[in-house]
Amino acid sequence: MHVLILTACLAASPGVCAPRLLPGGLGDTAAACEARGDSVAADWIAGHPGLVAQGWTCAPLSDAPVLAVTETAPGIHVHRGADAALSPDNRGGIANLSFVVGTERVAVIDPGGTREQGDALFAAIRRATPLPLGPVILTHMHPDHIAGAEVFAEAGAEIIGDARLPAALAARRATWMESIPAQIGAQAWLGTVLVDPTRLVDAPATFDLGGRSLRLNPVPRAHTDGDLTVRDDLTGTLFTGDLVFRGLTPVVDGSLKGWLAWLAQPAQPGPVVPGHGPVAPALDRAAADEIRYLTALRGAVRAALDAGQGLSQAVPAIVAAMTPQRAGWADFDATTARNAAAAYAEMEWD
Ligand SMILES: [Zn+2]
Repeated sequence: MHVLILTACLAASPGVCAPRLLPGGLGDTAAACEARGDSVAADWIAGHPGLVAQGWTCAPLSDAPVLAVTETAPGIHVHRGADAALSPDNRGGIANLSFVVGTERVAVIDPGGTREQGDALFAAIRRATPLPLGPVILTHMHPDHIAGAEVFAEAGAEIIGDARLPAALAARRATWMESIPAQIGAQAWLGTVLVDPTRLVDAPATFDLGGRSLRLNPVPRAHTDGDLTVRDDLTGTLFTGDLVFRGLTPVVDGSLKGWLAWLAQPAQPGPVVPGHGPVAPALDRAAADEIRYLTALRGAVRAALDAGQGLSQAVPAIVAAMTPQRAGWADFDATTARNAAAAYAEMEWD
């Protein structure tokens, strides 16, 4: 199999260029790819304002950058993100990304933090299986999980998201399109577009992959307002998205109370692929540290409110009260300060 790789550059900074994989050029032979190269490349550039092309090539799939994945259970392939905040070092690759191979199609759960990462996940899937793409599921709105979706949309996949996701993305897209390249570098972000889902779910839904199926469950406001969980019926694996953080400090961008309520539900047995951190054999084990952190946060916020502290006094007091929780969490200080403000705003009206 050959893939079309376009060198795209920022029109405003022509020295900033990066290779991008264009699925429209996929071909069994180099000649089949090359026959479509000019038109596919021109169409793609036309759809990406601010970019210019600096040539394209058709390369064997084995030459394309590929994301490292581990098969954690039969047919379940997981890429482990860096346990860190966004930075030029990790190029936006901080979330766990997965694909699940059935007998008829392959599903993706979170397509990556940039176009670059989506391309490399696409190449990993194409190296693992020739099966057609099934659903590409976005666990929630955060770009470190979903900003790689466009390459899969170009490949013809259905992009599945929670019904609340488009409005949340619309409210934040412009901010993220500026702030993320500032955090990870313009080259790492080059060509990234935050696309909307092509199909929305507002109730539990099942996707048959052949020989196994994935069950999607929308979750009331918790990590964000628009979280989805995905369970594989064959292995019992639960993909929690960012409802479970391990190693990287949990981010409260929805409801602290809702999140703790979700975590308090009885869990079904089976392995857990968290949004960040290592795969765990069961939910109680996966979420134990996070439950401790979020419970301590709720207690610290309650204490600040009971003491009558205003927001500007409360945030440093909450961060100080959280210090005993610090061990084992990456990006603890900055995230905990933001969480303190978010939880204060939520609990102020209790
Ligand atoms: Zn998130």
